[in-house]
Amino acid sequence: MRIAIMGPPGGGKGTQAEILSEKFSVPHISTGAIIRAAIREKSELGIATEKYIAEGQLVPDELVIGMVAERVKDDDCKDGYILDGFPRTLVQAAAMEENDIKLDYVINLVVSDNVIIKRLGGRRECKVCAAPYHVDFNPSLKEGICDKCGGELIQRPDDVPETIKERLSVYHKETEPLIEFYKKANLLINVESCDGIEKTTEAVVQALGVKG
Ligand code: ADP
Ligand code: ZN
Repeated sequence: MRIAIMGPPGGGKGTQAEILSEKFSVPHISTGAIIRAAIREKSELGIATEKYIAEGQLVPDELVIGMVAERVKDDDCKDGYILDGFPRTLVQAAAMEENDIKLDYVINLVVSDNVIIKRLGGRRECKVCAAPYHVDFNPSLKEGICDKCGGELIQRPDDVPETIKERLSVYHKETEPLIEFYKKANLLINVESCDGIEKTTEAVVQALGVKG
């Protein structure tokens, strides 16, 4: 099963990708998570990408394309993968073919800007293992502490109001055109992602036609 999950920032891509990754036993590949890990490690990729992320801009296409092309060659991807946050531009989508990054479905999570603004402000992430939380919709058992590893929960630097606004405008300009692109390619599945995590998962699973 090779799936890409797309949608606006804070649309629930990461959460749904993680659930599908467990369900199908294929890796969850989040370009955002790879980049944030690189920034934490201060690797070459991290140094090259830090300023884009902090400003809510997209990282240059060639960097992300290379990153994903390498990752899907790994052995654990032989039965498929769940791409989370890639592709995000028409250039990235077009580059997939020549880089042998194949897709069976593209799930587009549909969420209004108002809901996103509310969601992103409450989003938290484990500093250690990057597990996602939300203070209202998906709280950890103990406030500020990761359920999985005990790490500290922090707010991502790009989840502050000014950057959220910029990310949304980048989304509408750069990423939204992919909806039409994948509709034409007959790969697109639209799923409402406004009613909570479980309902969204149910809708995704139903749309994929697999058992829940
Ligand atoms: P969100 O979708 O909530 O913005 P992500 O973790 O998917 O969160 O992405 C965070 C940031 O990482 C993006 O704002 C962008 O700067 C960078 N990024 C992630 N994926 C891509 C991509 N495919 N192309 C360019 N930049 C990306
Ligand atoms: Zn953790």
